[in-house]
Amino acid sequence: MNNRNLLAHREFLEGPFWQKIPAYRDVRESDFLDYRWQAKNSVTNSEKLFATLKGVVSEAFIADVRDGLLRSTMSIRVSPYILSLINWDAPYDDPLRIQFVPVKSRMRPDHPKLGLDSLNEQADAPVPGLTHRYPDKALFLPLNTCPVYCRFCTRSYAVGIDTEEVEKVPLGLDEERWQKAFDYIARTPALEDIVISGGDAFNLRARDLERIGMTLLGMENIRRMRFATKGPAVMPQKILSDTEWVDALTRVVDAGRKIHKDVVVHTHFNHPNEITAISRAAMDRLFERGIVVRNQSVLQRGVNDSVDTMQLLIKKLAFMNVHPYYVYVHDLVRGVEDLRTTVSAAVRLEKHVRGTTGGFNTPIFAVDAPGGGGKRDVHSYEFYDRATGISVYSSPTVRPGRHFIYFDPIHLLGDEGQKRWASPDEQRIMIADALNAAAR
Ligand SMILES: *Cc1c(COP(=O)(O)O)cnc(C)c1O
Ligand code: SF4
Repeated sequence: MNNRNLLAHREFLEGPFWQKIPAYRDVRESDFLDYRWQAKNSVTNSEKLFATLKGVVSEAFIADVRDGLLRSTMSIRVSPYILSLINWDAPYDDPLRIQFVPVKSRMRPDHPKLGLDSLNEQADAPVPGLTHRYPDKALFLPLNTCPVYCRFCTRSYAVGIDTEEVEKVPLGLDEERWQKAFDYIARTPALEDIVISGGDAFNLRARDLERIGMTLLGMENIRRMRFATKGPAVMPQKILSDTEWVDALTRVVDAGRKIHKDVVVHTHFNHPNEITAISRAAMDRLFERGIVVRNQSVLQRGVNDSVDTMQLLIKKLAFMNVHPYYVYVHDLVRGVEDLRTTVSAAVRLEKHVRGTTGGFNTPIFAVDAPGGGGKRDVHSYEFYDRATGISVYSSPTVRPGRHFIYFDPIHLLGDEGQKRWASPDEQRIMIADALNAAAR
């Protein structure tokens, strides 16, 4: 190993990198570092995207994006911060473009077995927006908006505004719904741990974030809480300039610490290019306040599925005191078949990543078992056939006795496997064979 590779994670992009985008040429640092400027100038429709990128990308690319948006399950929302980090000279292969800006030419037909809400979150929700799947923890979705929209969102059934493809389940900010969720949590003594996600906790007003946090801290049964936000990865400016929000978060964390309850932040970096000197300053700010941050990535083909990229990502995160917690094998959601990869790719990557750095800074590679089996270690399948791309998992703590199937993308299978998937009869045979083999 050469020295350069060992130290690359210590380099953080500095300077006015945004000024290379013509539309941001005159944007001063004080504006770029202001979250209000970032929010106001976020690109939220195709016209604004084309206006911002005029002269930067070709007409053909823009037409490709326009067609991509018509087929996307997510509406578009990208911060100037992220737009500035994309290499627009080669947009097709840029790992940030791939995550936030759809192009039709790269889309692939959906796998026949996938669907919206592949994790069955709504079926496990005793109250709309509160998924209680595991014995002692639950997932609370107080709102349905985010600072950006990711093409691959697992919650495309609810998050963001309607698209041509999807009419969303309404999970907007609704105090009555919140109260029902609080009531359920309070009367369910086994619950100790609440994930507050969304949408995105970044979009909660400071007083709402504090109210949710303090309400949960006030419940005797609740011991742990995590605020989930992609914010640090896509708009770190907020942590540096929205004092009201960061102070509210700090008050909840401090109040929890005094009564020996754990309040942390979970974030969502996927690629080292999302990490700059601004991110580092933001993470330093949280660290100084004693706020623990963990990271959950989504494994995506062409984004972070190479050993070098994943190693660099986790070393950069660790350097900023962000603990890499999970890397999720991509859920079986609609419209992003180009982004999924195989279970065997995830297994291989895991082997190469473990040992890169401290064990507590090494993520667990997990499959969230389709149909509501919960998160499983990717290596723990009962059966896996690389030819058909079918893996079978069991989940004794969540649904004992049941099997859950994950499907590799068809276009990454060999010829024989692809041929079999073209026939509905063969599909049934392959699935039955896999379930039989797993049961043996
Ligand atoms: C991911 C998830 C949790 C939290 O799981 P951890 O493995 O503890 O991070 C809780 N509830 C639901 C429904 C989830 O999807
Ligand atoms: S930030 Fe999270 S919830 Fe929001 S669109 Fe992205 S993946 Fe979905």
